[in-house]
Amino acid sequence: MKLLFEISSSGRRQSLLPDCDVNEYKFDPSLLRSEAPRLPEISEVDLDRHYTELAGETFGVNSGFYPLGSCTMKYNPKVNEELASLRGFTGIHPLQPESTVKGSLEVMGRTQAMLCEITGMDKMTLQPAAGAHGEYTGLLLIRNYHRDRGELGRRTKIIVPESAHGTNPASAVMAGFTVVSVPSNAQGGVDLDALRAAVGDDTAGLMLTNPNTLGLFDPGILEITKIIHDAGGLCYYDGANLNAVMGHARPGDMGFDCVHVNLHKTFSTPHGGGGPGSGPVGCKSFLAKYLPSPEIVETADGYGFSEAENSMGKVRSFYGNFLVVVRAFAYMLTLGRQGIPEASENAVLNANYMMRKLAPAYKIAYDAQCMHEFVMDIGPLKDEVGVNAMDIAKRLLDFGIHPPTMYFPLIVHEALMIEPTETESKETLDRACEVLLEIFKEAKENPELLHSAPNDCSISRPDEVNAARNPVLKYIFE
Ligand SMILES: *Cc1c(COP(=O)(O)O)cnc(C)c1O
Repeated sequence: MKLLFEISSSGRRQSLLPDCDVNEYKFDPSLLRSEAPRLPEISEVDLDRHYTELAGETFGVNSGFYPLGSCTMKYNPKVNEELASLRGFTGIHPLQPESTVKGSLEVMGRTQAMLCEITGMDKMTLQPAAGAHGEYTGLLLIRNYHRDRGELGRRTKIIVPESAHGTNPASAVMAGFTVVSVPSNAQGGVDLDALRAAVGDDTAGLMLTNPNTLGLFDPGILEITKIIHDAGGLCYYDGANLNAVMGHARPGDMGFDCVHVNLHKTFSTPHGGGGPGSGPVGCKSFLAKYLPSPEIVETADGYGFSEAENSMGKVRSFYGNFLVVVRAFAYMLTLGRQGIPEASENAVLNANYMMRKLAPAYKIAYDAQCMHEFVMDIGPLKDEVGVNAMDIAKRLLDFGIHPPTMYFPLIVHEALMIEPTETESKETLDRACEVLLEIFKEAKENPELLHSAPNDCSISRPDEVNAARNPVLKYIFE
């Protein structure tokens, strides 16, 4: 399609203003630019069509099935958007006096309380702006704990199983720790003997992604947290995948000391395109004195600000991404005690349904009951007919389906990670399976078709690294 500058025609305008009948204001000439900016000149209808066409080029949860593993790209109910756009929430200023924002403080306080109940934690902060930011905040809690016990110099290592999300080791390094990786066992869980061998008096803690990036709930979880605690370390739960367990199992009951959740995955904020997100962090009471400030606490006079005794200070300006919190609050209230566990049941059911329908053709990387997502291994197909995970992902675009996560987790070399989410109907899941099975057949009969896919999109196979590293963000005039 053509760009705005390419459809521009000199003198074309959107609206015709009447001649000015008031005195013209004279600016100080030193404030004026020497030549007029080169702006596109376009009529209103052409501009409208341009943006409508542009919107049609993108793909979102509102356009079709979007099974991007580990991202929980679920449908976000519109009522939550409506509530987040109420003037009472959007029109306030973060520096307003506490007494004038009691309602918003109540939303934050009650959201914290519900998230504590869902995760089994005692206290929660809403400041972190994303999952990885929450991990970093949680690790600072662990750091402060060891520092106050005079053990920080010795406890320098964070154990991260290889089935963890990629942000886990990155956050541990950012927080000043070194990372020790432990392998998975044949069932896709943490290898307990390797874990026992890895812990020692230099262990600061463990970060566990659960369900892990293979979509599996680790059956050794109680043993894992015990091994770490016995060694004097603390346990961090990456709860970004809480969609699979909320209302059924709580990190706090499994022995974890702190956890983050992703409101922009599980709790109904649209994501992608870089934000805004929210990664609240919860902890057990013995860590609460280090939480970021200000805290939101319930007082005799409604909700208000407070400061933890040994607070780590701010991890983000003001109070985090407040409107994301409003959406999460609305989401939890509308689902309630019955709906929250039902949502995760359906997420797990949908993933298992798809996995079983696809298993006769595709190799399932760890063929056990999965949680909210599962990983297919395209390795055998690649060996047989030379079609890889990327080819299959790209071919899905021709059928109007967003590709699943590719080449992740790294322990499966030709991985396709599928997360259907709870909001999809049986018809949608059936069609997606039909398409994937059809593509499997095509791979065997006509692999060329897959190598050249997508065949129906305006961009086929861009140089992704170059596009990310050297984006062209402005129009370059001839
Ligand atoms: C998405 C995700 C993260 C990171 O969350 P961001 O908000 O993208 O920083 C961490 N862990 C897991 C398991 C995730 O799925």
